[in-house]
Amino acid sequence: MSEGTSTYPESKPLRVAVIGAGPAGFYTAEALLKSGRQVSIDLFDRLPTPYGLVRFGVAPDHQKIKSVTRLYERTLQDERVRYFGNVEYGRDLDLAELRKHYHAVVFAVGAPTDRPLGIKGENLPGSLSATEFVAWYNGHPDYADLEVPLDAREVVVIGVGNVGIDVSRVLAKSATELAATDMADHALAALQASQVERIVMVGRRGPAEAKFTTKELRELGELENADIYVRPAEVEADPASLAVVAGDVTITKNLEVLAWFATQTPAGKPRAIELRFLLSPVEFIGTDRVEAVKFERNRLEPNEWGGMSAVGTGEFEVLPAQLVLRSVGYLGSALPGLPFDARRGVIPNDEGRVLEAAGGARVPGVYVAGWIKRGPSGVIGTNKACAMGTVASLLADDLLDLEPGNDEATLIDALLAERGVRVVDTTAWLRLDAAEVAAGEKAGRPRVKRVTREEMFDV
Ligand code: NAP
Repeated sequence: MSEGTSTYPESKPLRVAVIGAGPAGFYTAEALLKSGRQVSIDLFDRLPTPYGLVRFGVAPDHQKIKSVTRLYERTLQDERVRYFGNVEYGRDLDLAELRKHYHAVVFAVGAPTDRPLGIKGENLPGSLSATEFVAWYNGHPDYADLEVPLDAREVVVIGVGNVGIDVSRVLAKSATELAATDMADHALAALQASQVERIVMVGRRGPAEAKFTTKELRELGELENADIYVRPAEVEADPASLAVVAGDVTITKNLEVLAWFATQTPAGKPRAIELRFLLSPVEFIGTDRVEAVKFERNRLEPNEWGGMSAVGTGEFEVLPAQLVLRSVGYLGSALPGLPFDARRGVIPNDEGRVLEAAGGARVPGVYVAGWIKRGPSGVIGTNKACAMGTVASLLADDLLDLEPGNDEATLIDALLAERGVRVVDTTAWLRLDAAEVAAGEKAGRPRVKRVTREEMFDV
């Protein structure tokens, strides 16, 4: 293999490995398919099932968002695409092997872990990251055994982004509402028996700095099973914040919805969701399990980047909670053999081209797309433009030269077979998908998920 000089004949397909079959992986494949070049794409995922966060992140009561998988399914069925589920990069294949068999490798592995708060008591039993909780209720095989103490009556959710809203809403919904979703059976049973009465979502800055979007916020005021509470004084944005966000449509609408919440009279529903602002967590209190979270009250100050920062006032407030969900953002993880920017949780890159370090030399033939490229922000569709950008870089570049014969597609199959890897291909996935949907039809649900790898392989 020589690097950086593209001599592959135009008559032969450009072989691309895409690692990660979530939205960014699928949009990468789609952009390659539509490029007008002859391509042959192998799409790998460490889990048997494709669709990444659409299956394991998007809330189970947001089925409409999940319907994007119909487009991904079309990509999977394209004869130029092969799916390799249950194949883990770093365990079953390494970078040298990929670079030996593909002209380019695109990592679209997302941001699988959570950002720690770094405060005392954070890891007490009863304190979970929203990332884990979401993966648990969505039936991610690695989180099926998570202990979620739903005997808690009071829950604190730290962070006011859309994930914070998702987990608060799921905790607030009634047994009947949850039964209509494709939530994993273990989570459905546990949530239907939940003792939760009050969920308090807490933001460290003010309402004008909250990260959630208006549709998701509004939904909190429309729940059958929970009243919404805000404190009028807390949802009034301060003048300096208003000046910073002037003209931002989402924030303006968010503030209108919050002001409307402040006028609502509680209907006496079984559960309550309260939104609080200007409070930073400083300590989780408890001995054997979390009992409360101590917060410092903040004020806002303009910062050097033109935004608003939270500054502690030295006043404290303790909120009781027997379950705490830390929902302060996802975080990317380092991958074997690849550079990593641990502070940002991304692989350093220039428009998707992987670099040895920020501003450093390129790693030829290796690219990134999605959250591992730009960090955990944006909605599913944001990954489309992101992946298209990466594919534009890839198509403009000199790619890896492959030794004659190494471009045979079957070599990868042989290598995986030799290693005893149980590959889930498109046909096998479609069979599993059909079995889940059929089980769902019988139960009046969108699907009944098979959660463990064994249950998946049983199909
Ligand atoms: P996010 O939008 O970045 O929100 C994270 C929240 O955590 C922010 O309120 C942030 O406050 C707070 N935070 C961060 N560090 C903190 C700390 N040390 N102490 C206290 N609070 C802290 O992240 P996310 O909710 O995980 O969502 C990730 C992405 O997925 C977002 O782009 C989101 O819109 C998207 N998403 C979309 C949907 C949907 O469309 N329905 C659903 C779920 C997720 P600061 O602003 O002060 O940092």
